[in-house]
Amino acid sequence: MATTAKDILKQVWGHDDFRVPQDKIIEAVLAGQDVLALLPTGGGKSICFQVPALMRAGVCLVISPLIALMKDQVENLKRKGIKAYAIYSGMTKREIDIVLDNCIYGDVKFLYVSPERLKADIFRERFAKMNVSLIAVDEAHCISQWGYDFRPPYLEIAEIRALQPTVNVIALTATATPQVQADIQEKLAFKSGHERFVKSFARSNLSYAVRIVEDKEEKLIEVLQQVQGTAVVYVRNRKATQDIAQLISKRGISATYYHAGLNNAQREVRQKDWMQGKVRVIVATNAFGMGIDKPDVRCVIHLDLPEHLEAYYQEAGRAGRDEKRAFAVILAYRTEGEELIERAEATYPPIDFIKKVYQSLANYYRIAVGSSLLADYDFDIHDFIATYKLDGLAVYRAIKLLQEAGFIELSEAYYKPSTLMFAVDNRKLYEFQIAQAKLDLFIKALLRLYGGELFRDFFKISEEKIAEVLSIPVSEVFKKLQYLEQSGIIYYQPRKDKPQLTFLTPRYDATSLPIDTRLIKFRKETAIEKARAMSAYVNDSTFCRTRRFMEYFGEESYNDCGACDVCIDKKKEQVENPIKDKVLNILQDQRLTFEELLACFKPADKENLASCLRNLRDVGILDVDAQKKLYIHH
Ligand SMILES: [Zn+2]
Repeated sequence: MATTAKDILKQVWGHDDFRVPQDKIIEAVLAGQDVLALLPTGGGKSICFQVPALMRAGVCLVISPLIALMKDQVENLKRKGIKAYAIYSGMTKREIDIVLDNCIYGDVKFLYVSPERLKADIFRERFAKMNVSLIAVDEAHCISQWGYDFRPPYLEIAEIRALQPTVNVIALTATATPQVQADIQEKLAFKSGHERFVKSFARSNLSYAVRIVEDKEEKLIEVLQQVQGTAVVYVRNRKATQDIAQLISKRGISATYYHAGLNNAQREVRQKDWMQGKVRVIVATNAFGMGIDKPDVRCVIHLDLPEHLEAYYQEAGRAGRDEKRAFAVILAYRTEGEELIERAEATYPPIDFIKKVYQSLANYYRIAVGSSLLADYDFDIHDFIATYKLDGLAVYRAIKLLQEAGFIELSEAYYKPSTLMFAVDNRKLYEFQIAQAKLDLFIKALLRLYGGELFRDFFKISEEKIAEVLSIPVSEVFKKLQYLEQSGIIYYQPRKDKPQLTFLTPRYDATSLPIDTRLIKFRKETAIEKARAMSAYVNDSTFCRTRRFMEYFGEESYNDCGACDVCIDKKKEQVENPIKDKVLNILQDQRLTFEELLACFKPADKENLASCLRNLRDVGILDVDAQKKLYIHH
């Protein structure tokens, strides 16, 4: 009996059924069609290409710019006994070589590649020789100049396709406007008969709200007191994560903070404490959240406005994945929407500044004109800014523009453990051990810890573990490994913990940097337009917020959600009762029992109060908690 998609889902993932529209997507992929799938956050995107790829012979190429996510997926597949590899910035040529060989000659099922690697000849030559089952393009909006995260290397995918003309493509993204959707299909050279699947952007359990406030910190505490359970608080800059976390802790709510400037160990501990519920609130920059799937987040609060609705929709969408009631709240000052638009206009750096940043980057890494194709470097933006005394936000934007113009690629911070492989065979190694007796114990320890695999493939190692086994300091282990590398005995790639900056072209002289001014102008207009849409979301309190998202992403909407602040306000209007306003006022920031509430009125109002509460409850504004206390939804 032939294996079905459902069998694979059961065997590999242990699930009985697909979620809508996963089954339809998989059907279309298996029928050989090109497919565009829009699945909002938490919609189970990867299953859509992993299941069909497992049903076919050969290797599935997955393109994604998110290295941390890529590594997670590779680890998950490996744990399920499926052979998977990834190629991304920060790897040596030797490491890449071995992965590509394995994809041609081994039984590899998935090869994840970050987009800037597609250009390399070494990749193209080998890719043409592979038996390819499917090409999956994740974060497909990166192919479009109308998108919020345009990455020119994505445009190479059409050329990659041409090397495997019979293989079909699945493009996946969480958010794309109608314009971007059309662009994805065109730029990926979709064949006729392609299909498009959209999971609705409406989230019925998620209540969106915007509060225009004078004092954000006070309101933040109030929201956290009202909405029990796990929460994420997003702020724009790193310093604020720490300040706000302290403020929350002082008010008796456990909180921690997270940003990309922390080292891997710190990031892991904080994330884990929050995931396990040891800490209730995590205050973070937008570096937090990718690949994190905590189902019971009750509240996502933004203290600063995201740059666009795409980002906001995704960050807010981390609340309530368990389908239970959850809240997504923006706290803003009255002028903030306007300021967002102004900032998009004003901080768009002029060409000369962009050139200056390019020049400084080249100086920072001492790259000579004409050299260094596809080299990766550790990048610490704070150190870079300090070194050249430049304005942080402007540098950030200039780097983004250099990326959009295709000169560089900047990956997010991710952790790559040290890897090691023997550069010589068994016999040569033995000769070396005899010749250099003082390293004999060290090499034996490597073999004991990591086994014969070290002769065939790069293996993750831990310098701490080796130090422990041999009872020597870690610094000694580093020294010995470096010595073995210099002696040609091992290939050793020390760990990395920083974002990687990759130069995609040979270095230009900054004055002759062929930067397309029309592109810059176009990207600036796009950024301003997106800031306008974000500002409208914050300032317009007349249109249902769920419907605003649906329309922005090109989905038709007919009914108000009934759960956002706009809808709730409308419902309040509907309740006609003389004491309604007083009731809402009293319950605005406290929970009371019926008797306690009644004490605020004249005894003669008792009947009236009961009917008012009933009405408020019917329209979903009022509820009763486990202690029989009345409270209103915000
Ligand atoms: Zn609504």
